[in-house]
Amino acid sequence: MPDNLFDLHGKTALITGGNGGIGLGIANGFAESGANIAVAGRNNTKTEEVVADLCGRNTSAIGIEVDVANQESVENMITNTLEAFGQIDILVNNAGIGIRNLPHEYNLEDWNKVININLTGAFLCSKAVYPNMKTRGSGKIINIGSMTSIFGLDWAIAYASSKGGIVQLTKTLAVSWAKDGIQANSILPGWIHTDLTQGIKDNYQDRYDHILSRIPENRWGEPADLSGTAIFLASDASNYVTGVSIPVDGGYTSF
Ligand code: NDP
Repeated sequence: MPDNLFDLHGKTALITGGNGGIGLGIANGFAESGANIAVAGRNNTKTEEVVADLCGRNTSAIGIEVDVANQESVENMITNTLEAFGQIDILVNNAGIGIRNLPHEYNLEDWNKVININLTGAFLCSKAVYPNMKTRGSGKIINIGSMTSIFGLDWAIAYASSKGGIVQLTKTLAVSWAKDGIQANSILPGWIHTDLTQGIKDNYQDRYDHILSRIPENRWGEPADLSGTAIFLASDASNYVTGVSIPVDGGYTSF
């Protein structure tokens, strides 16, 4: 056993969507725990800013352009990370989008887009990272679900379906790859201030306030609120934890 179960020095973490919001909150937490960071996203400008900031704080970090819904792009992301760091110890499947509409008005194109990024993307990234983790006999996969992994949401049919799927994807990866020393778990964030949810605050104040009224901690979360649980799931502290989905929600699911 290491002295500090939560230490990530010498480990490399690849975080999809690590250039903003929750992914960035997790990247910052990992960096403070000593990990090397690969930040992957579509928007290179955002990614470069984050990488410069991490490197300025003495973290080894690289940026990678990726579309997680594209298999070739995902495979290139893994190759580039391995070329830079030689190994991938931690994969965070965080990249995600939402397109709002009611079920009967939802079109197939939007459905496919959301499912392809949120669910298929997590599958493709996990599949692509597996050979390196298997060869070394260890690895941590952290998938980002949602409150809609548990609850239904009227204007989020594709999003909720993708996030429900994340829980089952996680369980299946866990039981399939435990023999290879790989643990797979999910974090289910509550309601967190990011670009994804900014529209609720800006355009649906009543909905924003209603959500707030249901959060026992009496505040919406911030991206940094996810980092502690992510560090736990990325570190040796969680070596006997696999297949679970942990809400980090200020008590929302208990109310
Ligand atoms: P943001 O919109 O701030 O971040 C989304 C991230 O995903 C961006 O970094 C974006 O990078 C990346 N991304 C989107 N599509 C792709 C793609 N095709 N390929 C690669 N990267 C992509 O939102 P959040 O931080 O809020 O969301 C992060 C995750 O957390 C998502 O999975 C979301 O569903 C989940 N979540 C968020 C909650 C919240 O309240 N905010 C609650 C529960 C879950 P780029 O801009 O470069 O494409």
